[in-house]
Amino acid sequence: MFRLREYTIEPDLEPDAEPIAFTGQCAVCGRLGPTGEGGGHLTGWMLAHLRAHPDHLTYREIITRPYRAVPGRWL
Ligand SMILES: [Zn+2]
Repeated sequence: MFRLREYTIEPDLEPDAEPIAFTGQCAVCGRLGPTGEGGGHLTGWMLAHLRAHPDHLTYREIITRPYRAVPGRWL
């Protein structure tokens, strides 16, 4: 026998949450740059990738944001 419980999903803002992480990606070849907190490292990686591949002119920023399930009332 078990009981069902309602949950809501929300961004995890608790102190022990995983950090929000940023990764650059080349939109031409799909190669991923390093993942880090904050976005300061993205453009440096993109410029280095562009120097190695001069025809790779478009990029993406991938943001990884932690979420958590918050328990609610028992059904
Ligand atoms: Zn590329």
